[in-house]
Amino acid sequence: MKLVGVYSSSHETFKDEWFLRTLKDDYEVCLYPSEARGHGNYMEADWQQAVRFKSAKIIETIQKNWGEVFVYSDMDVLFVGPTKTTIQSCLNGKDIVCQLDDPGGNLCTGFFAVRANDVTLKLWQQVQRATACEGRDQIAFNRLVRAMKEVRAGYLPPSFFGMGTFTGRQFPEASRIYIPANPVMFHANFTIGVEQKTALLDRAQRIITRHRPGRVANNLFFRLRHGMITPEVIKTLTRGDRITQHYDCNAFVRPSSVALDLSTACQLKCPSCPTATGVIAKSIGTGILPLANFEKFLQEHPWVSDIELSNWGEVFLNKDLESILRHAHERHVALRIDNGANLDRASDRVLEAVVKYNLRSLTCSIDGASQEVYSIYRVNGNQRLQKAVSQRIPGLTLAVCRLWSQRTRDREGSGDGRRAGDGVLCKTVLGRPLWRNFLAGKRS
Ligand code: SF4
Repeated sequence: MKLVGVYSSSHETFKDEWFLRTLKDDYEVCLYPSEARGHGNYMEADWQQAVRFKSAKIIETIQKNWGEVFVYSDMDVLFVGPTKTTIQSCLNGKDIVCQLDDPGGNLCTGFFAVRANDVTLKLWQQVQRATACEGRDQIAFNRLVRAMKEVRAGYLPPSFFGMGTFTGRQFPEASRIYIPANPVMFHANFTIGVEQKTALLDRAQRIITRHRPGRVANNLFFRLRHGMITPEVIKTLTRGDRITQHYDCNAFVRPSSVALDLSTACQLKCPSCPTATGVIAKSIGTGILPLANFEKFLQEHPWVSDIELSNWGEVFLNKDLESILRHAHERHVALRIDNGANLDRASDRVLEAVVKYNLRSLTCSIDGASQEVYSIYRVNGNQRLQKAVSQRIPGLTLAVCRLWSQRTRDREGSGDGRRAGDGVLCKTVLGRPLWRNFLAGKRS
């Protein structure tokens, strides 16, 4: 049976000092050097390059070893006993079996055995595509393996374990390592950087090689510290015939929709707004989110696909807004400004970008039909919204007018629409169809 692995220069030390030195079985070892150069830290450019190389090598191995089974392993692994026989029996009736990554049931793409067939080829080809966009493979793998009903996936027993398997927490914040009965393999995951991984491998080896009373004492302290997640839960989980269907571990809530304030500053002084009265400045500060931070956020949270951009300030004050809209559009992340914008400083160029990069929806507050009434509440506002409505966003005109006249009728029955705007908080939502009309040049 083949044992496949890839390594970059930063992880070569794990290959020589831990992986090869501790390997117990007579695998046909096939290790491929990646050209990635760097520190090998999680999500850094060289790390992502190595992950992409890994997907390519897994696909290549599946294609060249059709019908056979092979093991893939990262290099930050310490072998404690023979693994081959257990792996072969776990793969009975399965396409892929992985080390359990955390108590939530996630599968680890750092150590697994796979049957080379059309199902696993399709799975890894999809993982490869997702990795190119998301920068890492494990989250995509867990999503896809559950979505593809034809994949028969399972867990390796807890004797194949990593730092996260029993804790779901990172080393060194979580310092205790639970040692299961008859361990055969330890994976130094759930930590970042070569130094930490080496420290983790050292510690795991020290505890594993203790006499039985030493391991029992270690596990007792682990239970006292970690309470709810007991090793019995992990044993039951990995004994099951199926992988868990949900990311139901509290430690790893990964929302697809989030709010990210692009600005906590505003040029208006609406009397009841905490931004205008200075409360927000005192509590979270006044600032603008730069493009670089937005890019970093998307890179580090690839599972986020929908972002609300407004909360405590005026989004259109952000000078990077055009670039942010473009970047999100390229990454297929939907953006919304539903909480509100006053549009007072929206330039033609940014409004163009709003349309071009498909902002999903936008809410504007209009507190008066005339400048005089509008500025009673929107202090310092110069009713540019209305100008924007009439001159620059033709699609919005209809929505505003309809809402305005509807509110008028609701409030006063009929009569002078200008007076009806007094004191009424009107909001209109500009949705995608309107943007599309605008794009198509319709002026209805
Ligand atoms: S426009 Fe919005 S953020 Fe600005 S002061 Fe008024 S309520 Fe506050």
